[in-house]
Amino acid sequence: MSRLEATIRDGKRVTAEEALEIYDWPLARLGKLADERRNQAKGADYGGRGKEVVTYMVDRNINYTNVCDVYCKFCAFYRTEKDADHYVLSQEQIDGKIEELLAVGGNQILLQGGHHPKLNLEWYLNLLRHLRAKYPQVNIHGFSPPEFNHFAEVFGLPLEKVVGLFREAGLGSIPGGGAEILVDRVRQKIAPRKCDTEGWLRVMEIAHGMGMRSSATMMFGHVETPADRIEHLGQLRDLQDRTGGFTAFICWTFQPENTVLKVAKMGSHEYLRMQALSRIFLDNIPNVQSSWVTQGPAMGQVALKFGANDFGSLMMEENVVSSAGTSFRLSLDEMRRLIREAGYEPWQRNNEYELLGEAGESPTLMA
Ligand code: SF4
Repeated sequence: MSRLEATIRDGKRVTAEEALEIYDWPLARLGKLADERRNQAKGADYGGRGKEVVTYMVDRNINYTNVCDVYCKFCAFYRTEKDADHYVLSQEQIDGKIEELLAVGGNQILLQGGHHPKLNLEWYLNLLRHLRAKYPQVNIHGFSPPEFNHFAEVFGLPLEKVVGLFREAGLGSIPGGGAEILVDRVRQKIAPRKCDTEGWLRVMEIAHGMGMRSSATMMFGHVETPADRIEHLGQLRDLQDRTGGFTAFICWTFQPENTVLKVAKMGSHEYLRMQALSRIFLDNIPNVQSSWVTQGPAMGQVALKFGANDFGSLMMEENVVSSAGTSFRLSLDEMRRLIREAGYEPWQRNNEYELLGEAGESPTLMA
């Protein structure tokens, strides 16, 4: 066993230089080490059941508008106000989607949208207050850091103020979307009008400082290098050392269909390699989600042996990735079957990764 392998197996931190070395190791070796790290992870013990459990969430994407003036080169979802199929959802439409979520035992909405240039502060605060009052049992996981940077600019308010107002109005936690690769040279190439690395990290630091939790993400396989990916992971790990506010990490490969950015689609081999490396490198983020939505259900299962301890969510109505050509769908029964087939117990969880329903005993859940 090499010194570096011993470092990993002892649960010790690896440096960025070491991560670059590990990146070239055989995939099976990386997977084995990531699986060991998964089983050692703090905060995922689940009362002694830890290693056997794979969690999942029942939530719903609600993309409140597709109007956006950022025009990211990797995005197939946005429309301008001139496009016939642009929309802004009404409160009644959003309520209708939440009623459907409640009917299948869901407990969270993922509320995200394009950067609409005209919606004002009161539109957002009224929506949040309404949802908080009407659906107190549903966590509002919403508004990625680039959206918050956009709000601060459009509303003419400091970021701290905007995040604080949204929190007071009912926002529960923040998704890690819009991170892509947290290296400004890369961001300039793929999304030059989106917030920079510092802007993304600042929203998360502010939110964590207010007691809100968030996820962390990485979209790779476009114009970045492996060293860029590791720099991205380093940014997340450094912030987590300061705040401890990230509950989970999720990575996926760029889905190129219907987008301006023309690169070859990255294969599952590379996805597994990066997820395993991320699990090893991000020693302070307790949970890793497999990304069956982009990789497909079978690869979602395999990813559970490459560092993931969570199967993500049911994702009722996923719009953004499906606009880019990927359209995997699962029912709850299928999700639970896939987890069992991979050798684990499926447990529904909440946003804090607390277990909600015993395996096979979730009477409110239906396919
Ligand atoms: S990824 Fe988000 S910010 Fe970029 S164009 Fe699409 S909707 Fe707009």
